[in-house]
Amino acid sequence: MKVLMLFFTLSIGLSSALAQTLVDSTCKRYFAITDQLRQGDTLDPKVWNQLMNDKAIQMYIRDQGVDEGYIERYKRTMQLVYMPQNEALLQSRLKDSTKYWLTYILYQYKKNEAGMRAYLTNLEKDPAKYFNDCYRYTYAMLPKSAQKRATNQIYSIIPIHYDAHAENDYIVCSLLCAYLNDKNQYGVLGGHELHHILRPRIDYTKITSEDENVVALLEITLNEGSADMIDKKYMTNKDTVLLPFQRYFNTFFEEGKHLLPQIDSLLQLSAKGSTFTVRQFLKGTIFTGGHVPGTYMAHYIEKNQLTSKLVARINDPFHFYLLYNEAARKDPSKPYVFSKASVGYITRLRKKYSAALYSH
Ligand SMILES: [Zn+2]
Repeated sequence: MKVLMLFFTLSIGLSSALAQTLVDSTCKRYFAITDQLRQGDTLDPKVWNQLMNDKAIQMYIRDQGVDEGYIERYKRTMQLVYMPQNEALLQSRLKDSTKYWLTYILYQYKKNEAGMRAYLTNLEKDPAKYFNDCYRYTYAMLPKSAQKRATNQIYSIIPIHYDAHAENDYIVCSLLCAYLNDKNQYGVLGGHELHHILRPRIDYTKITSEDENVVALLEITLNEGSADMIDKKYMTNKDTVLLPFQRYFNTFFEEGKHLLPQIDSLLQLSAKGSTFTVRQFLKGTIFTGGHVPGTYMAHYIEKNQLTSKLVARINDPFHFYLLYNEAARKDPSKPYVFSKASVGYITRLRKKYSAALYSH
């Protein structure tokens, strides 16, 4: 009997390991907590710790770089938002969402809870259909050869915060982020994250240490730029289903105007042999994720009908910059054009690392 049981467990493990799995169990646990809080009960630290110890939540928290103090504050804010006896304090805090940011976010969870529950019930009915909708967007930004299914993939929706993150075999999406983005344009958020999983990459093992910072700068720009082409056009100031801070496109675009000349200067310095400044730039700004220059540059590539050229070389960070420059030169609105020195430098690097681009 024991042997049979073991075989049974193994076979289930194997079949689910090959597929893409939707996991939303932490959301259910979260709703059990909010049900209790709404009845006036305080949050049991044991129940809270159990929730926070979930693997996907841990992975997300580590990526965000938040500490224990933050988690504790999050818990206390939950009690403030959901417990009826704190209603007056909640209302006064909601008047200043910038100062009481966590209160504002948790209030959005509370306000949207019925919609979120229905959203998850709907997803659970047919996760395969949901993933198909996401893949449609992902594939639009991938060459045929890369249009595969992510295998061994956990797609975990977690009930904290308002962000999405892809790492190894996990995609972790905050419920608030998944719910509102899918309500606005179904499938684009998953489409963006799956693009990170499936996009072919430059072979980093072939990049020498003196160039790795500058290649990293170009790579993170392409990485988010190409993925942002999937979803950021649906995150504009007109997309009022989203919360104001989720309408990223316009912010990224405005910031991009200022950031490109800075990147140009860094590239020129780097061409002369300085890697320090690029390294500082990568570590020291809020733009390290690549969204700001990426969204800006991708916008002009698309506007000037160069998307298919980008898709054909989706693993090539040098090409992304050169293609942007081609678009910028053509564009009547005169976006920033990179200097000859930077373009020459990128072209030289591209030649130097052609083996890293075509090794797979
Ligand atoms: Zn991304």
